Amino acid sequence: MDKLTSFEEEEQEGYIKIDRYNEKQVQDIAAHYPAILESLGENPAREGLVKTPERVAKALQFLTHGYDIDAANVLRSAMFEEDYSQMVVVKDIEVYSMCEHHMLPFFGKAHIAYIPNGHIVGLSKIPRVVDAFARRLQVQERLTNEIRDCIHDTLKPAGVAVVMECKHMCMAMRGVQKQNSVTTTSAFTGAFQNDVTRSEFLRLITASLD
Ligand SMILES: [Zn+2]
Repeated sequence: MDKLTSFEEEEQEGYIKIDRYNEKQVQDIAAHYPAILESLGENPAREGLVKTPERVAKALQFLTHGYDIDAANVLRSAMFEEDYSQMVVVKDIEVYSMCEHHMLPFFGKAHIAYIPNGHIVGLSKIPRVVDAFARRLQVQERLTNEIRDCIHDTLKPAGVAVVMECKHMCMAMRGVQKQNSVTTTSAFTGAFQNDVTRSEFLRLITASLD
């Protein structure tokens, strides 16, 4: 499915405004919403709701645009040979995703490190890999692993570390209403399976610069 072909181009310029949607998909999704609104006890014909099915369809298309991004390609587009072999850490990467069980948002931060093994990657590509996997229906555990595996398999570094801390709206807004609980997941490969290296990473992501 090739619904947002212009996405890459626009983001390269440092600004994302996706206003080109796959019209057929928008119409297909939107067609279901009047019935859903009615089931909820609403009147889909009232002024405020008339355009809601289309807005929801566009929002859903944006929130799942990661399906159209080849994350490995994003990395390959900016890999450079470099003889640097210390840990590279990108922390506090914003994450916005959707839980696949309730289709409600979960969001928070990802902290990612790798130890180069002949190649480094343009730093801005790491958050884009996060986005490529986050902008899909997800569970935080799989999201964490997919990011780790993509970096590991593509960059072939000496090790990858991913730690993710997210709040889940399905926990905060419904059921148990644990509004401030944060879920932490982590995934490591290679050198990060070693206690010393992993501790250094964890120290770096919890340290502040001031
Ligand atoms: Zn959920």
